[in-house]
Amino acid sequence: MFLKEVVNFVKVLNEMTVTFESRSSNEAFARSAVAAFVAQLDPTIGELNDIRTAVSEAVTNCVVHAYKESIGKISINVRILSDNIVCIRIRDKGCGIEDIDKAMEPLFTTAPEAERAGLGFAVMQSFCDIVKVRSNVGSGTTVTLNKRISPRVGNG
Ligand code: ATP
Ligand code: MG
Repeated sequence: MFLKEVVNFVKVLNEMTVTFESRSSNEAFARSAVAAFVAQLDPTIGELNDIRTAVSEAVTNCVVHAYKESIGKISINVRILSDNIVCIRIRDKGCGIEDIDKAMEPLFTTAPEAERAGLGFAVMQSFCDIVKVRSNVGSGTTVTLNKRISPRVGNG
């Protein structure tokens, strides 16, 4: 079965949610909190770094794009599903994205003056198995990252 189909049918084995303010000083907290929760699956250092990097990109987007000059709330929900699948949802209630397909194109950025490269979504896509984006202009964005952690030998 494809991972996309599996995600729709699997059981939630464990779950956590954290909410924090959109300050860049919270970015390290966010990626560490997710990594600490995912650690129970005994991921490789590489898998954990992939998750840290993808979460950082999504959280940075909330800080610099969703809330721009203001401070708002960012929520991250992490679910551990059967078959070692991790589902991470990063949600903001910021400005939203007008054209999601365009925003996800590599090198597309609405902030070239801030020296943004337009590569955040491309990074998320290369480090995760599935990246989904839902957004409404004026009410916010939810980015969902799915990644399967390889089962470790001897871990049953
Ligand atoms: P980089 O990530 O390389 O610094 P970037 O943030 O512009 O540059 P992406 O992360 O790929 O590149 O995002 C592309 C565009 O999508 C952004 O320029 C922004 O317009 C929009 N965007 C992404 N996330 C959000 C969000 N949470 N809220 C509003 N707009 C967003
Ligand atoms: Mg970005």
